[in-house]
Amino acid sequence: MTVEREVTTPEELSEDRSVEPGLRPSRLKEFIGQDKLRDALGIAIEAARGRREPLDHVLFHGPPGLGKTTLAALLSTEMGADIRTTSGPVLEKPADLVGILTNQKRGDVLFIDEIHRLRPIIEEFLYPAMEDHRVEIRISDGPKAQTMTLAIEPFTLVGATTRFGLLTAPMRARFGIVHRLNFYPAADLARIIRRSSGIFDVEVTEEGAEELARRSRGTPRVANRLLRRVRDYAEVRAAGVIDGEVARAALELLDVDEYGLDEMDARILKTILEKFEGGPVGLGSLGVAVGEDAETLEEVYEPFLIQEGFLMRTPRGRVATPRAYRRFGFVPPQGLRDQASLFRDPQE
Ligand code: ADP
Repeated sequence: MTVEREVTTPEELSEDRSVEPGLRPSRLKEFIGQDKLRDALGIAIEAARGRREPLDHVLFHGPPGLGKTTLAALLSTEMGADIRTTSGPVLEKPADLVGILTNQKRGDVLFIDEIHRLRPIIEEFLYPAMEDHRVEIRISDGPKAQTMTLAIEPFTLVGATTRFGLLTAPMRARFGIVHRLNFYPAADLARIIRRSSGIFDVEVTEEGAEELARRSRGTPRVANRLLRRVRDYAEVRAAGVIDGEVARAALELLDVDEYGLDEMDARILKTILEKFEGGPVGLGSLGVAVGEDAETLEEVYEPFLIQEGFLMRTPRGRVATPRAYRRFGFVPPQGLRDQASLFRDPQE
């Protein structure tokens, strides 16, 4: 994998892990954008605090890098509670959760990332904990298996998932508050960049922030990463200030194009155009052709390409839009142009 390919990848990279905690807004009022969600959470928090009750269970869903983990942590801060963090794939057996659940204080937050990947046995164990504040512990195995019921303190489960559709219906039904996070408009990303630049202590002009924002794939994680990379460039080549010109020069060096498409986005679109004559092509075949698994294509790359009007999902498979044809220097076929009038090119 080349460095260029990674720059605008929305998933967490190892280089993000050490810097992200310092960049996370810890209060709701510092959380930029997603106004409706922020207002709704603010009201839910205030109401719960007023009643001196734990916050209802909360589910956040949406593409990676949009702030789900950040929100989980800031909810616990706003509620004056502690947070414990785990994730769907690491929980193997109910016993992995017993310690956490029995030690939690009233109102504490349990954050489960990738909650769509919980094993059924863990889900079954969680239901009574979420609803009736009790856990069933198995104390012996075999035909005469004995279980013991333990009361636990009421707590708030915060779940995050990139794949809402894979969550089981009973699990979904147990969340009182469900929010989808959407890609951020460039203006919000510019504000996030300016906030982060204060933390990094690097000067960014308005034009510089806008330039980075436009190419951040609608994703705060990518915006922060571009800022870090461009800061390096600015320090070495431009006396440390990121203005429009410095941002453009640095992004060109990093191979980030004007839409924020990264190497994988480009590879997906070019593959559809060149190998599959513009589509339709099934997700599985597309995955094989670009060397990426179908799930990652669907949850990481597609949502952005669809939102930006480069790709359409049709019943017969994925189809490149006229905008994708033009982006790579091809002329869109007439029939497609008619069909795609439904998918207006935002640049036109
Ligand atoms: P997710 O859990 O959805 O993958 P994270 O919560 O880890 O995303 O966010 C990724 C990075 O983006 C974090 O470093 C966080 O600081 C930043 N970030 C996300 N949303 C916002 C926001 N609304 N305002 C400011 N920074 C944000």
